[in-house]
Amino acid sequence: MAFQNGLRPAKELASNRPHGDRLKYLGGCRCVPCRAANSRYETERAAARRRGEWNGLVDASPVRCHLIRLSKREIGRDTVADITGIAASTIDLIRRGQRKKIRAMNARKILAISPDAVVTDAQRIPAEPTWRLIDWLLKQGFTKGEIASRLGFKSRSLQLGKESITARNAMKIERFYRQIRAGDDEFKEAP
Ligand SMILES: [Zn+2]
Repeated sequence: MAFQNGLRPAKELASNRPHGDRLKYLGGCRCVPCRAANSRYETERAAARRRGEWNGLVDASPVRCHLIRLSKREIGRDTVADITGIAASTIDLIRRGQRKKIRAMNARKILAISPDAVVTDAQRIPAEPTWRLIDWLLKQGFTKGEIASRLGFKSRSLQLGKESITARNAMKIERFYRQIRAGDDEFKEAP
């Protein structure tokens, strides 16, 4: 059976769900636990909107302009991907104008990158602050090999300079650190 836009209808998805599930509510059930689940969801959404965390789809063209501006400053899609946690392929599609809509939170993350504040990928910066973050990660039980592979290094060793490192690697470590500290799923969110 083919469905419009390839999504399965709520009714079908809801059929195996227990009661007290919003999906079951969307599938048509109006029992008390399902209604409660739905209103809980609506309340949370409203609270998120008030906090400015609304994450619906928005027009991507301001983001596209910003990406072009950034790339003129040699801040390429890989750097943008490192800073924001958004897939490089997605950033490419937006920059080429092939994707017209973007999640509001992702738009905010990209627009927050200042062309002046960011150094270029290859620029070397003092390594000491980064090593402090690495020490913290090691204390949490991560091995150097794990940190290296989480950063996309091919080798299992952390080949970073003691005196200076590239801005790109510093940003990667910082992002990883923030991710672990926050312990949240924000960065794993699909664009
Ligand atoms: Zn129900």
